[in-house]
Amino acid sequence: MIFPPRLPIPEVVRDIAQRLEDAGFETWCVGGAVRDNLLGYANGDFDLATAATPQEIQRCFRRTIPLGVEHGTVGVLDRNNRPHEVTTFRRDVKTDGRRAVVEFGASLDDDLARRDFTINAIAYHALQHKWRDPLDGASDLDAKLIRSVGEPDQRFREDYLRILRALRFAARFEFTIEQRTLNAARRNVDGIKLLSAERVRDEWFKGLTTAAQAAAFVRSWQEIGATEIWLPELAGVTEQDVAQLDRLPKRDPVLMTSFLSEDAQATLRRLRCSNAEVDRGARFTTFRDVRPNPESDVDVRRWLAKVGAAADDLVAISMLREPEAGLSATVERVRRSGVPLTLGDLAVDGDDLLALGLSKGPIIGKVLEELLEEVLEDPARNERAGLLEYARRRVETEPSRRDSGPAA
Ligand code: ATP
Ligand code: MG
Repeated sequence: MIFPPRLPIPEVVRDIAQRLEDAGFETWCVGGAVRDNLLGYANGDFDLATAATPQEIQRCFRRTIPLGVEHGTVGVLDRNNRPHEVTTFRRDVKTDGRRAVVEFGASLDDDLARRDFTINAIAYHALQHKWRDPLDGASDLDAKLIRSVGEPDQRFREDYLRILRALRFAARFEFTIEQRTLNAARRNVDGIKLLSAERVRDEWFKGLTTAAQAAAFVRSWQEIGATEIWLPELAGVTEQDVAQLDRLPKRDPVLMTSFLSEDAQATLRRLRCSNAEVDRGARFTTFRDVRPNPESDVDVRRWLAKVGAAADDLVAISMLREPEAGLSATVERVRRSGVPLTLGDLAVDGDDLLALGLSKGPIIGKVLEELLEEVLEDPARNERAGLLEYARRRVETEPSRRDSGPAA
């Protein structure tokens, strides 16, 4: 690759570099944005690497936020309060497979040498328009290769996340993982057990979202043995389902994971997803094979009430399986009509039932569910008087006050 004479560096990034250089600190653009621009993908999110220490960076700018000062990273805030990452040149002094202790006082070349892959280790000087590529990342960009900087076994043992990063970049750019790098990734894959669930989730989700072919990304995790370790509920997934991933209407990693997993709740919980996402996955697995009759609004309303947060996910996979059935259209129409679908949509609430003399406790929820049943069957029934009347009749049949617990 012949480097282009100039990269389109956003003015604010150049201004930050200029300020540091004026103060006597060598400063370069590095990382993913340099790589992406060389590949022809727009990316203005340039990280800067500098000889200034974090304290010196903070002294050069009025408004900064610490983004990991012990690792040398300071966020310099621009006019719109957007942080731009500025990191001190550093060298690893200690690693344990998950994180590194770094020291400052390093050179640009030291800093590039601690980066993961050669294509991520190219630097560009935003003011002098010079290039620095001591690891020959340019050749690997040409050859479409993901190659470890230095000795791959050692580099993966320093930080096992690099194994997953290699898979992500390979799938995103449709690059090949260079043979020695791939062999070392295979040999060391057990090390990913040490990683935190959050870092693994970020890699898995980012990979699913950014891969040129999501299916190829998933296969690469399967092939190397990463799914077996972190996503065992994917063991039984068929190649046909993997191939379907790229036909989904959108790249939603929670949906994609649920779709591949035979127990989405377990998978999403292991990845420490939010409770809302875990619940969504749980409902997905429970209801993935329950199909309402798309011709029947009542059926679709009951189904929507039951599947809750997984509704959009289930509609999305119904579009893969039976696009002609038209579930999506019915769901959209039912929702647009604004008919009640949840307890919260009812014209009465728990307090109304208490006021009627129903005792506190599970009976309240039970009666509300019954009211919802009525209303799902016929949305016109969602008016106060009628629902209260129904509830009043229910009070009369309530067996004494057993549900209310010991009297105060
Ligand atoms: P993207 O942001 O598109 O995912 P990126 O290459 O910018 O890709 P970042 O995680 O933003 O990835 O990291 C910025 C740069 O920091 C990388 O290009 C690489 O040079 C370096 N880097 C990031 N993570 C590691 C790591 N685990 N080991 C070594 N170097 C790393
Ligand atoms: Mg980045």
